[in-house]
Amino acid sequence: MFQIQSPSIRTVTTAHLTQTMTLLNQTVGELYQQIQQELTNPALELVEERRCPTCHRVLPGHGECPVCSRPVSMQAEEPVVFVSPREEF
Ligand SMILES: [Zn+2]
Repeated sequence: MFQIQSPSIRTVTTAHLTQTMTLLNQTVGELYQQIQQELTNPALELVEERRCPTCHRVLPGHGECPVCSRPVSMQAEEPVVFVSPREEF
């Protein structure tokens, strides 16, 4: 037997799961319509951003995460050497 933490939390989780499953069953077109419909809520806005799947930082326009793409061997106590071609200068 296990105890459920709180009935209210369980209810919210189930409702969210139901919504998620509903979204998963929709086609892309239906999902897009759903999003547009939800966006009529003035409290919501569509934010297009990329986040690193590892550290969840907001990423710049393109490229890899500047934090997670570093070599693991680069530790703080080592001297940091930036090597970059200066061709444009
Ligand atoms: Zn990252």
